[in-house]
Amino acid sequence: KKRIGILTSGGDTPGMNAGIRSVVMAADAAGFSVMGITKGYAGLIEGRVDRIKTEDVAGIVEKGGTILKTARCEEFKTQEGQQKALQVIKAFDISGVVVIGGDGSFQGAKVLSHLGVPTIGIPGTIDNDLAYTDFTIGFDTAVNGVVGEMSRIRDTMNSHERVGVIEVMGNKCGDIALYAGIAGGAEHIIIPEVEFDIDYICDKIIGNRIKGNMTSIVLIAEGAGKGEAVANYMRAKAKLDAKAIVLGYIQRGGTPSAADRLRATSMGMRAVQLLEKGIGNRVVGIRDNKIIDEDIDEALSKELIFRKDLYDEFKIMSENMQ
Ligand code: ATP
Repeated sequence: KKRIGILTSGGDTPGMNAGIRSVVMAADAAGFSVMGITKGYAGLIEGRVDRIKTEDVAGIVEKGGTILKTARCEEFKTQEGQQKALQVIKAFDISGVVVIGGDGSFQGAKVLSHLGVPTIGIPGTIDNDLAYTDFTIGFDTAVNGVVGEMSRIRDTMNSHERVGVIEVMGNKCGDIALYAGIAGGAEHIIIPEVEFDIDYICDKIIGNRIKGNMTSIVLIAEGAGKGEAVANYMRAKAKLDAKAIVLGYIQRGGTPSAADRLRATSMGMRAVQLLEKGIGNRVVGIRDNKIIDEDIDEALSKELIFRKDLYDEFKIMSENMQ
């Protein structure tokens, strides 16, 4: 029986388990067995490899995190580390690998492919910062989580007539703030893709307070700056009672959304189809609601497309909010 290896790497995201499950099911149906590699490339180098059977993935679709654990591994960036990994792959007779992770992890997938082990990447990051795919696995869950926290924060901000400045993740990408800002009804968003004018935001908030809307929620993407700095400025310069809230790791946890589970499942299936044909050095994604696969270098050379259309919609609402 041919053997496929699977690992998760980089930051964990909700939906990775749905991807693992899908790969195991699809491989089983295709007559392959699956070897789970624990703790990403670090575990690969250490030989932490165990068979995963279909019964091992029962019930994991609803679980956040990754049953295979994840890690960052500097050693795998060295030739020595890569050769150790290759020996392990050979020892376990693995003929193809699926890597679920972000762009760094995809560099590793490229290395394995070039060493003669066809490897397929599935985009796992909450940041949605991979240009070749409309959505990464985990992003939708993170956005839903932020929207939930926004309404809890709004309750207490409302009671005190405060301004809540909520800092969200996203690395250099503003998508979490943009999508959650629209869905959660933020008054303002600050994202790295658009220049912002803090004095304009303060004036708007003060204007709204005069009109009777005493509370505002400002979402700031971590790539655009620190929530604490924005709140400090608002307090010092505009006399606003602003509180900074950093959501942090809450955004990475929790049961995955249906959309993330569905996408991870379809992407896992595509990854196995490619490996069945011995095809590697590709990443799977979703574009215009269709599952796609693309050469790793081509995928990673694309520029992130900013959803200006969504931002423009946000502006219309933000400017008309009372
Ligand atoms: P996240 O979205 O959480 O940042 P990521 O996959 O981009 O996810 P990284 O920490 O950049 O996270 O990369 C994960 C791992 O991939 C690294 O720790 C390393 O083991 C491997 N990796 C990254 N870059 C390379 C590279 N150039 N060559 C080989 N392996 C790499």
